[in-house]
Amino acid sequence: MKYSVIFLFLTTFVYAQKRVSNTDVSNFWKAYDLVQKSNDSLKQMEIINTEYLEKASPALKTLIKMDTMKVSDYVRSINKMPKRWNKVREQTLKIAQQDYDIEKLYTSFKKIYPSFHSPQISFVIGTFNRGGTTTREFILIGTEVVALTSLSDSELKLSTEYNIAHELVHVQQDYINGVNNEEEYHDLDLLGWALMEGSCDFIAEKLLGKLPHIEYMDYGRQHEEQLWSEFKKDMYRYDTDQWMYNGSSSKDKPADLAYFIGYTICKSYYDKAADKKAALKEIININYSKKEHHTFFKKAGYMK
Ligand SMILES: [Zn+2]
Repeated sequence: MKYSVIFLFLTTFVYAQKRVSNTDVSNFWKAYDLVQKSNDSLKQMEIINTEYLEKASPALKTLIKMDTMKVSDYVRSINKMPKRWNKVREQTLKIAQQDYDIEKLYTSFKKIYPSFHSPQISFVIGTFNRGGTTTREFILIGTEVVALTSLSDSELKLSTEYNIAHELVHVQQDYINGVNNEEEYHDLDLLGWALMEGSCDFIAEKLLGKLPHIEYMDYGRQHEEQLWSEFKKDMYRYDTDQWMYNGSSSKDKPADLAYFIGYTICKSYYDKAADKKAALKEIININYSKKEHHTFFKKAGYMK
């Protein structure tokens, strides 16, 4: 009896440990140092291949496939942007090795959403192309992108936990909508995209008790009415460029303001609901491929 309890404890422990994989980050820097010792780009490619890509975690393998990332992309990026790589090095290791309470996060999620699917979380290194993405099995954190923002250790922890919590909601959405990644959402209007992203922020806040400092949230709260009067003209359109994923083009305002709008509509839905637990489930459960977000929006009773 005693032994089986210990065995159970050990398997649970090992299982919990496997929820997070960070070996890709340390493998990358070993490969990076070896690449520095050579001027021959063919040799450099061979190093990245054998020391990083061939040792990839299952999640990184998926990312390589999704992005059709090639070994030559890494070598080009390393040779072209040594300053940028040096700048993020220490921070990527910190992010990947910090102690995150993933079990607590998963348990809290299961409480509000019993059919919760548990993905594996992987800290990986790409070529500065994306900060995070999901498949139905994995949450991938593009550690080198996250590391570009300088933050204190505690801010970094909250910000990474927020990233994980936000992406966890996407994984549940992907199951409901039967898709493998965000690119597979066809025919989704701006309102749908805003709610899909904003609901992740809303649930992340509920799970963590607070959100990290996010520019679009601050700006959104200060300019809510003005933003809404602009957003409602665009919300049934299919063009999202002015409102989200616009980090490189947005100049006079913070990017991704549609996330704030989606968040605040979810908040309105939740505040009005008599049954809060049911409301959280409904927010996660919106089936965007069946256009359920239109009914959800009407029920939320957000500003006219
Ligand atoms: Zn998202």
